[in-house]
Amino acid sequence: MKKLVSVLLASSLLLAGCQSGSSSAPAETSQPVTTAAETQKETTKEAEESGGVFTGKAPGFHGDIVVEITVEEDVITDLKVTEHSETENIGEAALPVLAQQALDNQTINVDTVAGATVTSDGFRAALKDAVESAGLDVSKLSQAVAASDGQKEEVTIDTDIVVVGAGGAGLTASLSALQNGAKVVLLEKMSFAGGASSMAGAGTTATGSKWLAEDGVEDSPEKLKADLLENGHNLNHEPTVDIFVNTVGEAFDWLVDPEGANVEYQRPTTSRTYSGVGRGAGVVKTLLAHVEEAGGQVLMSTPATELMVTDGKVTGVKAEGEKEVYTINAKAVILATGGFGANDDLVPEEFQKFVYAGAAGATGDAIEMTKAVDADLINMEFVNVQPNSIVLPSGLGQYCNPGVGGAYKTSGAFMVNEKGERFANEQGGAYELIQAMKGNEASYLILDEASFTAFNEGMKGSKIYTDEDVETWLKNNGSSNPVMVGGDTLEDVAKVLNLPDGALTAAAESYNQAVDAGTDEFGRTLTMKISGDGPYYAVQMWLRYYATLGGLHVNEQMQVLNTSQNPVDGLYAAGEAVGGLEGDIYLGGSLFGWAMTSGYKAGTSVAEAIQ
Ligand SMILES: Cc1cc2nc3c(=O)[nH]c(=O)nc-3n(C[C@H](O)[C@H](O)[C@H](O)COP(=O)(O)OP(=O)(O)OC[C@H]3O[C@@H](n4cnc5c(N)ncnc54)[C@H](O)[C@@H]3O)c2cc1C
Repeated sequence: MKKLVSVLLASSLLLAGCQSGSSSAPAETSQPVTTAAETQKETTKEAEESGGVFTGKAPGFHGDIVVEITVEEDVITDLKVTEHSETENIGEAALPVLAQQALDNQTINVDTVAGATVTSDGFRAALKDAVESAGLDVSKLSQAVAASDGQKEEVTIDTDIVVVGAGGAGLTASLSALQNGAKVVLLEKMSFAGGASSMAGAGTTATGSKWLAEDGVEDSPEKLKADLLENGHNLNHEPTVDIFVNTVGEAFDWLVDPEGANVEYQRPTTSRTYSGVGRGAGVVKTLLAHVEEAGGQVLMSTPATELMVTDGKVTGVKAEGEKEVYTINAKAVILATGGFGANDDLVPEEFQKFVYAGAAGATGDAIEMTKAVDADLINMEFVNVQPNSIVLPSGLGQYCNPGVGGAYKTSGAFMVNEKGERFANEQGGAYELIQAMKGNEASYLILDEASFTAFNEGMKGSKIYTDEDVETWLKNNGSSNPVMVGGDTLEDVAKVLNLPDGALTAAAESYNQAVDAGTDEFGRTLTMKISGDGPYYAVQMWLRYYATLGGLHVNEQMQVLNTSQNPVDGLYAAGEAVGGLEGDIYLGGSLFGWAMTSGYKAGTSVAEAIQ
């Protein structure tokens, strides 16, 4: 999807000779209006006529970012991102921030927006390209963004509830509290809302909801509880599971009710989950709009830094914005800061050798902040890991399920370890594959031409990468991530990967024999042989982690308990900041479902408690 972002330098800034820090028009976004070729043609024509409109482009996270600048007397007076396909609510949300910063400071050298590093790099490169096309002096336009003078205004806000974190849990908590008559301030530390919720597929558990009953899906809180406990190897915290299974139906009814959160979900379903329209990013966008419409005061780029505690009671939070320092007095605080996957001090060491694929803001701030009230923590040793991942050039983990699924359906494909030996049922349960991969130093997916093509089709179809990426990565020949290697023979591939001589050929032979015999030593149902003719390919597969399963201990009102198991006055929590629901691995749809359910529950019970 191509989109357009536009910012215009305010006339006051122009008249002031472009001093940094002057006010400028707010960023606006709009839907796509032109194709790449049309844009280029139009801007070139415009440039010829006015001599002042120039474009530049550079790769972003998903395809090119195209920037158009209007220049008058060596000043950039207008800056538009005319095309991009950046991730909705993440890179997309960062672009207006970058564009405004560039325009306000008249610089290419804008600060990276946290959580959108690749988009920020792409934007800077595209802007540089445009500046070069305009014949402007790149060095003059490369100064660092002016640092603030360090003086921040002290601001005090009095409210009923302060919610920390504008992901799925914080947004549902805010909206349900607002709808129950409370005054809400919502703090978000990033420049955009959404956290992990924006990155998720938004499959949402709906057990016990009206929709599920109408759609004839048989399910019950008891069945959901049994499935959660079995899936989590009985390592779940049962009281937390009970909160979820007994509230999720009511919460989902509210989520889709036009009088409730009014979020759009796809219907019908044949399982216990429904998918949010526009995935997690779509759900977040709708919720944020509804929180603002309901009168919530949303402060972006404003991390809560500490809890205010008097005589054991939480009375608000301190927070720090770009230009203000806040004291927010509140009758209650809801912590919805997400997980701790981005914080190596909290992620157990055994997981740190895997690749992280979660939100940049998931630094476990609730864990740190609640030390002040001696909060009880549950299951901090559990982190959700998934197989079938590559490492993108940015270093981020990327799931490959669409590629792997296509490959296994199309032709022979199997996985080997660093010894060139198969080690697992590649199509068995994720949990079993994870356990097997944990024992490897490296894991590779081996493909013939047909299965490699199907792998890439799946990935391209999910807009994860392009044909050009595949070409570049194959040329890199395993020297950088993602490791994607091709060769005429299996031994050519094995050589690049440093697998022992003959091991890969032997693995392919025994794999094909298993297809003929109809039995596999790892229990996989094998129907398709790997081709006898090259070329062959290998893609290095990683374990990735992106959600954390431990966190705060709460009671049925979502009130945080301390280590003496007593509720902390005025302190509540929701979402991934709460531990114990899942045990050692999560059940599909239940984490997003938990964010929605626990947020709804926290918002309603806090609004009731403070009345
Ligand atoms: C790639 C990916 C795919 C996923 N897929 C699924 C799936 O298919 N199904 C499923 O059930 N679950 C899935 N999950 C997990 C699920 O999405 C999350 O567990 C859930 O959305 C977490 O919601 P949350 O509101 O608790 O946290 P988040 O959505 O992470 O929101 C927390 C917010 O708090 C902000 N914040 C943190 N600290 C502070 C502070 N000090 N001050 C102010 N703000 C702060 C963060 O910036 C963030 O915006 C996925 C997660 C990821 C990353």
